[in-house]
Amino acid sequence: MEPGGGQGAAGRGPRVVVVGGGIAGLGAAQRLCRHPAVRHLRVLEATARAGGRIRSERSFGGVVEVGAHWIHGPSQGNPVFRLAAQYGLLGDKELSEENQRIDTGGHVALPSVSYATSGESVSLGLVVEMGHLYYSLIDRSREFLRAAEAPVPSVGEFLRKEIRRHVAGWTEDEETQKLKLAILKNFLNIECCVSGTHSMDLVALAPFGEYTVLPGLDCTFPGGYQGLTDRIMASLPPDVMVFEKPVKTIHWNSNFQVAESHGERFTVLVECEDGHYFPAHHVILTVPLGFLKEHLDTFFRPPLPAEKAEAIRKMGFGTNNKIFLEFEEPFWEPDCEHIQVVWEDTSPLEDTAAPMQDAWVKKLIGFLVLPSFESAHVLCGFIAGLESEFMETLSDEEVLQALTRVLRRVTGNPQLPAPKSVLRSRWHSAPYSRGSYSYVAVGTSGDDIDLLAQPLPADPEKAPLQILFAGEATHRTFYSTTHGALLSGWREADRLIELLDSEAQLQGPRL
Ligand SMILES: Cc1cc2nc3c(=O)[nH]c(=O)nc-3n(C[C@H](O)[C@H](O)[C@H](O)COP(=O)(O)OP(=O)(O)OC[C@H]3O[C@@H](n4cnc5c(N)ncnc54)[C@H](O)[C@@H]3O)c2cc1C
Repeated sequence: MEPGGGQGAAGRGPRVVVVGGGIAGLGAAQRLCRHPAVRHLRVLEATARAGGRIRSERSFGGVVEVGAHWIHGPSQGNPVFRLAAQYGLLGDKELSEENQRIDTGGHVALPSVSYATSGESVSLGLVVEMGHLYYSLIDRSREFLRAAEAPVPSVGEFLRKEIRRHVAGWTEDEETQKLKLAILKNFLNIECCVSGTHSMDLVALAPFGEYTVLPGLDCTFPGGYQGLTDRIMASLPPDVMVFEKPVKTIHWNSNFQVAESHGERFTVLVECEDGHYFPAHHVILTVPLGFLKEHLDTFFRPPLPAEKAEAIRKMGFGTNNKIFLEFEEPFWEPDCEHIQVVWEDTSPLEDTAAPMQDAWVKKLIGFLVLPSFESAHVLCGFIAGLESEFMETLSDEEVLQALTRVLRRVTGNPQLPAPKSVLRSRWHSAPYSRGSYSYVAVGTSGDDIDLLAQPLPADPEKAPLQILFAGEATHRTFYSTTHGALLSGWREADRLIELLDSEAQLQGPRL
């Protein structure tokens, strides 16, 4: 093994390595490098860019968000909103008091137009009725947090049970009832995108209400989300970021001495894929839960305590992808914001057993009309779960053809021109993410999130902190979001600063 860069720089002081340059790692680094005691700080990032699951790309003559899209709950209680405002990255509308006060309760806006697979538009009145029913059930599914017992293990089972109860009271003809169920299935598919899961049957009911929705109407970054992580990165000293440095193994609980460290000893050694290593006193680990799940058996030496490893295995982490379609001319109305696609042969009460090759498109929830392009006309589709992971295995051409067929069918226009181009995310195949974001899976609870967030060694009295855990999956109430990730990075930076301050106090003033 060879030492990593900059080992000999600066005087004595704790060496801190942050693994991962997403918003959690960058946020932690920004806080740490402002502290006078932290003289050796490196952020090791596996890829050639910072931002992680915040990823804005120049495309279609504008910017598209391949990863995080909105600031969820943009108001003063949201640190991503505050930081974005401080950096001047938001527009007047996003910053307005009025926008900050809007309380959506986490409900997704209803569509401007709803297409059914028969080629007919669905009455928006029916969509609104089903939207109200669906979100009343979702609100109720958040009420079991403090209940002695949840009636069923998963959100999906709860919703199905309640939908069945409602269906029993429906009096319309069979066709309308089938359409209502198909609309509800679309709302369930939206929920899978929001939760980043294949099925709401995988999402635990009892802790579902612990996820906290902040006030504010979700907003986007006019110049791209990545402007935020770029600004945080630009505030770091120049030698802090180390790109294309995938970490292979974290050796901890030891007593390493490396040739170039003049007799100093380290409890942690961070070994990289390229053979470089970074000795450290403290490591803040921010890699996605999907990566941790895949590499759990080899990433830690010695292995993690059994309880923590078990929490990582059990916690939920799924896929939500975006598919951008560029059109020569819009086929939608100028004021259209959101196009819903309702598959009339689907129902939340029945499972479809069709082969993935034919059925994957049915998980697509519809499209957002992206407003921010001068001359291009771009739709952004969302798709979650195993169908989304299957989509990643197809070629661009196959995806484009499949979605052209869907759009021709639902608009009832077999001549609808095919999109000019397609661009999509592939978060499941991305080796340093292996999915999109975390959820609280059946068989787990917020306690597992806290267990994952617990630093090692577990008993700080016995040995000083060695590995600290941050990243969106470690935030008990804001998991799956950028603000949860940022807060988790700050939390671990503060934990370390507290330790360093108390050590400095014990040592007294340096003469
Ligand atoms: C499609 C999609 C849509 C989303 N939409 C929203 C949204 O609208 N609003 C919202 O708030 N959130 C959204 N999110 C979630 C949000 O993007 C994440 O919660 C947040 O960005 C996670 O930040 P993080 O720092 O915890 O992890 P990441 O951003 O994943 O950062 C971890 C970093 O670690 C690096 N890494 C991994 N393994 C290694 C290794 N072995 N060695 C070194 N480096 C490594 C990765 O390359 C990455 O840069 C979305 C996510 C996706 C995928």
